[in-house]
Amino acid sequence: MRRLGLFLLIACLVASAGVRAQVLEYDVVVVGGGGAGLVAAAAAAEKGQQVLVLEKMAFVGGNTLVSGGVCNAVYPPWQEPLGIEDSIEFHYQQTLAGGDYRGNPDLIRVLVEGAPAALDRSRERGLTFHPDGVFQVLGALWPRTHRPMESAGTGWIRIYLEAAKKAGAHVLLNTRVIGLLRQEPLAGRVYGVKAISSDGKQLEIHARKGVVLATGGFGANVEMRTLHNPLLGPGFPTTNQPGTMGDGITMAQDVGADVTGMDFIQLIPAGCPKTGAVTGTVGAGIASSIMINKKGERFVNEGERRDVLSNAVFQQPDGLYYTINDSRVVPEVTSWGERPTDLVAEGRVFKAGTLKELAELIGVPAKALAATVARYNESVRSGEDRDFGKPAHLLKAAIEEPPFYAVPRVPSVHHTMGGVVINRHAQVIDRRGQVIPGLYAAGEVTGGIHGTNRLGGNAIADIAVFGWIAGENAAAGN
Ligand code: ADP
Repeated sequence: MRRLGLFLLIACLVASAGVRAQVLEYDVVVVGGGGAGLVAAAAAAEKGQQVLVLEKMAFVGGNTLVSGGVCNAVYPPWQEPLGIEDSIEFHYQQTLAGGDYRGNPDLIRVLVEGAPAALDRSRERGLTFHPDGVFQVLGALWPRTHRPMESAGTGWIRIYLEAAKKAGAHVLLNTRVIGLLRQEPLAGRVYGVKAISSDGKQLEIHARKGVVLATGGFGANVEMRTLHNPLLGPGFPTTNQPGTMGDGITMAQDVGADVTGMDFIQLIPAGCPKTGAVTGTVGAGIASSIMINKKGERFVNEGERRDVLSNAVFQQPDGLYYTINDSRVVPEVTSWGERPTDLVAEGRVFKAGTLKELAELIGVPAKALAATVARYNESVRSGEDRDFGKPAHLLKAAIEEPPFYAVPRVPSVHHTMGGVVINRHAQVIDRRGQVIPGLYAAGEVTGGIHGTNRLGGNAIADIAVFGWIAGENAAAGN
C-alpha cells in the first residue's frame, strides 16, 4: 500500500474536455514492452528507479518475441575456437557498408562496441546460448550471430521481464499510449505520457526522470508503409506482430522529434507464402542449404544482404523460391519451437526420399534440380562457388543425405530501418538538431542506425545495447 502511495495517485485531474484523467507518477515511464522496452526497464529499475512499462497489447514481447532472437556480437571466446576471425572494426565496416553508408557512423560505433557487453549482461541475467556455437544468420554477412537456447525471441523477453520485475518495475498491459506530454512545444521537457487504460479510462502518467519510447517499427501499418514504399500495399506479407504500427514515431513527431530513413523498409527473403511469418521452416541455415527457383536453378549467393536476396527473388518466376537441404541439418524441433514432421504433415514443408521425388512434389523440373544440387555439391567439395560467389565459409554442407527437404519462401516486410533520430545517449533529437529533454528512444522506433538495409542479427544487438543506454540515461535524468 505504501508503495502504491509512491506512485502518487493524484486522483482525477480535470482535463480540458471536462473528462477526468487519472494521474500516476513514476521516475521512468517506458512506452512499449517489447525487447528494447524491457531492456530499458531493467536498466532503469536496477538503478533503483520506479519504473512503469506501458504495453498496448495483451502480452509483452512485440516483434522481438516473434523474431529469430539471434544477436550479432564480436565474441572471440566463442568465435576463435571455430577459427572465425573477427573484430569490432569489421563489424562496424560491414554494418556501415551493409546499409549503403546511410547509417549514422557514431551510432553504429556504439552498437558494435556495446554488443559484446550486452551479450555478457544478458548471460548474467539468465540467457543461455546454443552449444552449436556461432553462425551467420540470413543477411548477417559474417559468422558472429549467437542463438539463444530458448525458441525465437522468448529468452530475451523472459530474462529482461524478470530482471525488470525483480528490480521493482511495474508492467501495465492493454494500456495504449496515445501521446507525449511536453512542457513547452519547442524547448520544454517531456514529462510524461497520455494513455488509455485497459478499461477505457484516460491516464496521465508523469515521469520524474524520463520517458523511454520503445514502441517498435511500423511494418504492420499498411498506410504508413505504403506512404514510404507504394509497393508494400495490403496484400504484401509481413513478419510483424499487429501492434507494430509506428505509434511512437508519430507521437515523437508531435512533440518536435526529427525522423530519418523512413523509406528504408526491409523485406526479409524468408517469409512463409501463406502467413508471411518467418516460421514454417526446417530452419536450415544459409551454410547448409541453397535457394532454388521454380526452374530448379540457383539464382543468387545465399550469403548476400537481405535486400539483394529479396530483389533477386522478385526476378524469379512467381516471385518465390525454395530452400533445399538434406536430412542432416534438420532438428527434431527448430529454433522457432516447431517440429518439421508437423510442418510436413501440414503441407508447409516438403520432404522426399530422392531429389527426383522432391522435384515432383514442388513442381520443378527434376533434371534441373538434380543438376543444380550436383553442381553445388561440387562447389562445396572444391570450396569455391564459381556460379554465384557464395563464400567458402558458407560452403559447409553438401546436399546428399536423404531425405531431402524443400521450403517455399517469399520476401516479407520485416524491419523498418527509419524512425526517430537519437544521439549516442539514446536521447531523442528534434528538427533543429537539439536534444528533447526527458525523451529517450531505443530499438526499431529509432532510425539512422542501420541505413538502407539492416544486417541480420543486428536488431537484437540494437535493443540490447540501446535499450540499456536509454534505460540508464533516463534513470539518471540526463
Ligand atoms: P523493439 O524490437 O524495438 O523492442 P518490439 O516490436 O519488440 O520493438 O516492441 C515494441 C512494443 O511496443 C510492442 O510490444 C508493441 O505492442 C508496443 N507498442 C507499440 N505502440 C504502443 C503504444 N502506443 N502504447 C503502448 N505500447 C505500444
